[in-house]
Amino acid sequence: MIDHRRLGRELELFVSDPLAGAGLPIWLPAGAAARHAVEEYVRDLERRAGYRHVYSPPLGKRELFELSGHLGYFADDMFPPMRLSADDEFVLRPALCPHHALVFRARGRSYRELPLRIAELGGMYRAERSGVLGGLSRVRAISLNDAHNFCALEQVGDEVREILRLIREAHAALGVRPAGFRLSLRGPGEKYVGDDAQWARAEELLRAALDGVDYQEAPGEAAFYGPKIDIQIVDAAGRESTISTIQLDFDKPERFDLSYTAADGSRQRPVMVHRSLVGSMERLFAYLIEVHAGAFPAWYAPVQLVLLPVDDGQAEVAVDLARQAEAAGLRVDVDLAGSLGARIRDAARRRIPYVGVVGSREAAAGLVSLRLRNGRGLDPMPVADALGLIGAVVAARSPDLLPAG
Ligand SMILES: [Zn+2]
Repeated sequence: MIDHRRLGRELELFVSDPLAGAGLPIWLPAGAAARHAVEEYVRDLERRAGYRHVYSPPLGKRELFELSGHLGYFADDMFPPMRLSADDEFVLRPALCPHHALVFRARGRSYRELPLRIAELGGMYRAERSGVLGGLSRVRAISLNDAHNFCALEQVGDEVREILRLIREAHAALGVRPAGFRLSLRGPGEKYVGDDAQWARAEELLRAALDGVDYQEAPGEAAFYGPKIDIQIVDAAGRESTISTIQLDFDKPERFDLSYTAADGSRQRPVMVHRSLVGSMERLFAYLIEVHAGAFPAWYAPVQLVLLPVDDGQAEVAVDLARQAEAAGLRVDVDLAGSLGARIRDAARRRIPYVGVVGSREAAAGLVSLRLRNGRGLDPMPVADALGLIGAVVAARSPDLLPAG
């Protein structure tokens, strides 16, 4: 069975060191390069969809998390507060919402600004018990692709439809294959905040947004603060977990007394939509490592091209070619040591999408012979053509190794 922990070690993507602590993995250069490419992509996707990115600290005063309700409902999953002095206690945050509520509240808001989409790829912490931790799939330090969309209730339908579109686009680019969509609704009981009419309208809007999507309803599975849509994945061991989520929240706008000025001049409470397109970087990569068996699409492969001179005579040409590839924006290595066969096998072991072999004939003519990760070899071609071919596949975020057409 494919296990992301074993592949993570073999491909030097991340390391878990007991001295650093269980559930606190360290991303090594190869894993960090892949994650960086994915983060850049997600931020760009969000920016083009009208999101505004912020930075907020991963810890805050105790009072902030009392106000948000996290210390009331969620304290068991949080690290204990850190006391600096009698009246100064800090908490490692278990979620980004409190800080984003403060972003909304930073000044007066008008209906013209809604939906206001505040995004951050930010750190948060969960005090998971050590027995449940493993690799990247369950961690204590979480880097979440998060956003909070503040909108009027009547905007929720369009907003959720647009979020679902972004989720599908991100899944397609990354190679995520969702196992199912779940709509979690209110059940019987009194634990829910917000009034009946609000809930009924919100559930109706979510159903409408899911029109044409194959989904299951889960009555009683909603959070106490609102209904939600979860998109599930299944890992190589058959365990199901949530990768993408859209949660309506009637509670936090109340707690933080958030309001905007409506067209008629009245003060109105926004709805807060918590949403994550791809979940946490940790869980996402645990999944991507397994689903691709370590062979990521070229656009986020840690090294996209390795150059192999056949012998020392072409080393200089290979190094020069690597500089050109770097200047073209590619992640590239040159491998000089050992027999050509051993170096080709090592490139395959590292799942590098493109191997560029430079022999004496290629070097003399300004050519390179590309071998694809799937074993296919291409005829020698001019260096510019080879870089153009790889660049086109990367720019298209294609799952294939050759440009379309
Ligand atoms: Zn949130």
